Amino acid sequence: MDNFDFDLLVIGAGSGGVRAARIAAGHGARVGICESSRVGGTCVIRGCVPKKLLSYAAHFAEEFEDAAGFGWELGDRRFSWTRLIENKDREIDRLNQIYLQLLSNSGVALFPVHGKLIDSHRVQLGEDIVTAEKILIATGGRPWVPDMPGVELGITSDEAFHLKALPQRVIVVGGGFIACEFAGIFNGLGSAVVQVYRGDQILRGFDHDVRDTLAMEMSKKGIEIRLELNVTELIRTREGLITAKLDNGTELQADTVMFATGRVPNVRGLGLRDAGVHALPGGMIPVDEYSRTNLSNVFAVGDVTNRVNLTPVALMEGHAFADSEFGGSPRPVNHGLIPSAVFSHPPVATVGHAEKDAIRHYGKIDVYKSSFTPMKHTLSGRDEKTMMKLLVQASSGKVVGLHVVGMDAPEIVQGFAVAIKSGLTKQQFDLTTGIHPTAAEELVTMRTPIQG
Ligand code: NDP
Repeated sequence: MDNFDFDLLVIGAGSGGVRAARIAAGHGARVGICESSRVGGTCVIRGCVPKKLLSYAAHFAEEFEDAAGFGWELGDRRFSWTRLIENKDREIDRLNQIYLQLLSNSGVALFPVHGKLIDSHRVQLGEDIVTAEKILIATGGRPWVPDMPGVELGITSDEAFHLKALPQRVIVVGGGFIACEFAGIFNGLGSAVVQVYRGDQILRGFDHDVRDTLAMEMSKKGIEIRLELNVTELIRTREGLITAKLDNGTELQADTVMFATGRVPNVRGLGLRDAGVHALPGGMIPVDEYSRTNLSNVFAVGDVTNRVNLTPVALMEGHAFADSEFGGSPRPVNHGLIPSAVFSHPPVATVGHAEKDAIRHYGKIDVYKSSFTPMKHTLSGRDEKTMMKLLVQASSGKVVGLHVVGMDAPEIVQGFAVAIKSGLTKQQFDLTTGIHPTAAEELVTMRTPIQG
């Protein structure tokens, strides 16, 4: 071991990399980490955190309107995009500092440069070459945009966080997590939003009731969802706007076009081939349950791998890797039943199978579904429904899917995810007393399946 500069060198200081570095250092390893951008990675710098802050900002528009039904009279309301972005940036700076502090407190050496593998033990860090017994690749992902004429006129979520002004009209391309979240943000803040998606309904892969409910609720809020359409070209107009040509021969105009058409692993200039690290077409690094690549001393965690792209998953993978390799307690990562949320307006949260998926896995399924007006909107007058759905394996009574669209869905589902992960049955749900009056009590009081 002493022949190497480090026991562990981590490439990429995002959620997974920082967690792995800190835990390994805590186990006594000599750890280095390199990062060519800001420490914190996608989640902290240009993902989950700033996105959620913008989402909060956008929700206020409806909160102000809803207040009237509760007797509040509000005066003039003005929104400053500049102030929001400045405040958001200040918070991101604060979190970045905390991450830097965490690394230095753990005794991890930070190299603020790009890392490139030379071979399985040597990494080029700027002008220097360092050696490490083990290497962890945690370089994350970056937005991917389809190739088309004028594509450079569009932006991705990376740039959306730094726009100089709130666009009056936005075209959001895509129907996934980021597209739905930003459609809600821009719409809530006052932009006119058209969301263009190539499929027959947004959020492919989610339960069909979730997809339909969210599309309906987003439309009610004024987002124009255009399905089964592709943007084929972007053209700058003389007035400085952007014309988006669509594959049905029509055009749309906006001042901002945002592509939310997926993300790809960050493997550019990483030297994977030189080092002999196997990658799949598209760049994803295949790993086993211990995050091992095809090379015995090179590992990978997070969005750069062929697994689920979520921050808590990267954290889990980074932590398990460090415990396994440096803590003397090898443990695989359990990727089963990962809850997730889309911070759309209204939000979506889900754990377990979608209905069609559940039927494929378990055969006969009892479906419990409820769609209701949340109590708040009895006085606010807002036309917004909450949808909740439980999928139960008929033979065992086990709850195998739980889906919520509506206010507080992510907060609700986080708690229920423990029950689903623990394999609880519908009967055990029924034995649980509801908290009244809440929306979540619906999940323990649904008694009659809609089919089955
Ligand atoms: P998604 O995979 O969720 O969505 C990508 C969207 O782009 C899909 O609707 C896809 O369509 C569409 N698309 C792909 N290629 C093209 C193309 N050539 N032309 C037109 N449309 C195209 O990716 P995101 O970028 O939204 O997010 C990436 C990942 O990051 C997510 O999968 C998630 O794991 C994670 N994430 C999680 C968040 C959270 O936890 N709240 C928030 C944001 C991201 P189709 O469905 O037809 O393939």
